[in-house]
Amino acid sequence: MSTHTQSESPELVSVAQKICRSQRTVVLTGAGISAESGIPTFRDSLTGLWEQFDPLELATPEAYCRNPSLVWGWYEWRRMKVLQSPPNPGHLALATLAAQVPQLILITQNVDDLHERAGSPAVLHLHGSLHHPRCFECHHPHTLAPGMPEEPEGGRTVPPPRCSQCCGPVRPGVVWFGESLPSLAWQQAMAAVHHCDLLISIGTSGLVYPAASLPEIAHKNNTPIIVINPAPTEQDNIATHIFRGRAGEILPQLLKLIPHHHRSRSM
Ligand code: NAD
Ligand code: ZN
Repeated sequence: MSTHTQSESPELVSVAQKICRSQRTVVLTGAGISAESGIPTFRDSLTGLWEQFDPLELATPEAYCRNPSLVWGWYEWRRMKVLQSPPNPGHLALATLAAQVPQLILITQNVDDLHERAGSPAVLHLHGSLHHPRCFECHHPHTLAPGMPEEPEGGRTVPPPRCSQCCGPVRPGVVWFGESLPSLAWQQAMAAVHHCDLLISIGTSGLVYPAASLPEIAHKNNTPIIVINPAPTEQDNIATHIFRGRAGEILPQLLKLIPHHHRSRSM
């Protein structure tokens, strides 16, 4: 195993060849792939209105029960940030890659919709979405008003809307710390990882479980693992190749080395 930062390094060429040969590629993304779109990761410190809060302490059911308007306000602020942010070259390269390999299954821990807006088909969202809130009590989906949410006025709190079915408070449609993952997405992700012949892990620290167990499963099956991250991660010790760089730079470089041919539609 070695690390490279230069473009067109022999390792970049060798990984591009591995991607070309792969029949079933899995890509796992984390907050890092959206960092270059201006969406902060949880480990980046927050700025402005939110700098005095620890995101790890806002992203829990207990925090919502303690102060629903604070937590709803934070998620509305994050949703506003996402809606204002375009997909970056990393998201776009993955969407293009999906059309150039026999099969690419994209699993994300992100709650933004930047993969979809970049054109990636069928994204598996392990941690839900900022864009699909639901009732805290009866789980009925809540339809958000179209357009941009308003920035919490001079403060941080926005009272959550009420459920159209039971009048209960609406909560963000994300998976909080301490909650289980949506079971269908998780089953599909596990199956994809068990059957893949290459796993590419991008912009994820490998600290958040159970998502972080996906590269471990691949490793147990002797599946090669490519890591793309500017900082060391928990998966580095099981990686076959590590690119210590930004997703928005490495992915387009890799894509350039992959010959363009259209996927057969007869599968
Ligand atoms: P994380 O915050 O634990 O780690 C982010 C990783 O991204 C770090 O390893 C960092 O080195 C790396 N990174 C930073 N800039 C990068 C770049 N330009 N290119 C590639 N990598 C880069 O994120 P996580 O592993 O996804 O886990 C945190 C949890 O936070 C997840 O459950 C996720 O749901 C949630 N989250 C999501 C978003 C989002 O949807 N955009 C944003 C923040 C947090
Ligand atoms: Zn309800």
